[in-house]
Amino acid sequence: MITCKSKRELDCMREAGRIVALCHKEIAKIIRPGLTTNELNKIVENVIINNGAIPSFKGYGGFPAATCISVNDVVVHGFPSEYVLKSGDIVSVDIGACYKGYHGDSAWTYAVGEVSEEAKKLLAIAEQSLYEGLKYAKAGNRLGDISSAIGNYIYQHGYSTPLDFSGHGIGSELHEDPSVPNFGKPGTGVVLKEGMTLAVEPMVHIGTPKIKIMSDGWTAKTKDGSLAAHFEHTIVITKEGYEIFTTIEEETHS
Ligand code: MG
Ligand code: MG
Repeated sequence: MITCKSKRELDCMREAGRIVALCHKEIAKIIRPGLTTNELNKIVENVIINNGAIPSFKGYGGFPAATCISVNDVVVHGFPSEYVLKSGDIVSVDIGACYKGYHGDSAWTYAVGEVSEEAKKLLAIAEQSLYEGLKYAKAGNRLGDISSAIGNYIYQHGYSTPLDFSGHGIGSELHEDPSVPNFGKPGTGVVLKEGMTLAVEPMVHIGTPKIKIMSDGWTAKTKDGSLAAHFEHTIVITKEGYEIFTTIEEETHS
């Protein structure tokens, strides 16, 4: 069931989103070679708790940590660990916070130290694919308009997106209807309505769209070992367009 949120619910989601954005701001500031991904996870967990929220991912379906940290060829759902970051790594940090029962969810991929030209290009295209999709986030448009804009942008640049993972509705549950695929046909899918809250989250691979799941049952890697990036914002659909909850930049409105 797809729900449109009340003003009170949206205010809780705004705060959850702001807390997630604070976490990303902190990660962007401190990420560097020599840190472990466990250390990044701990920083995020502290920011979430110190702001009166709860990490959405910890314990979700048995997930062990507050963040998913996915390095290089890991697409999503990597576990924080004692892995020491090195210059040239790209690191996706996926963060969820629950404030007064409502979730915010945002992933970002960071460059550590000096990364290759190939990695820089991947990050730029993957980040932009999120905003290409959001151009169509507006009441009256259809979900497929967002999905196809994301997918087309990714494919145009010679990259791929895994068919196994999608964005999602979000609210009192971390994952709600509808599913928000990163590929599709314009003019198809549900009609977007004011108050619908979505986590839009393209994942982009340099190589094959195929993935493999590691023996921990969570960690998803690209099958061919190529680099992957992941960018995600939680938004609400408005009459004029959308509002991003998971940012603390000035330009939060379309
Ligand atoms: Mg996420
Ligand atoms: Mg998500």
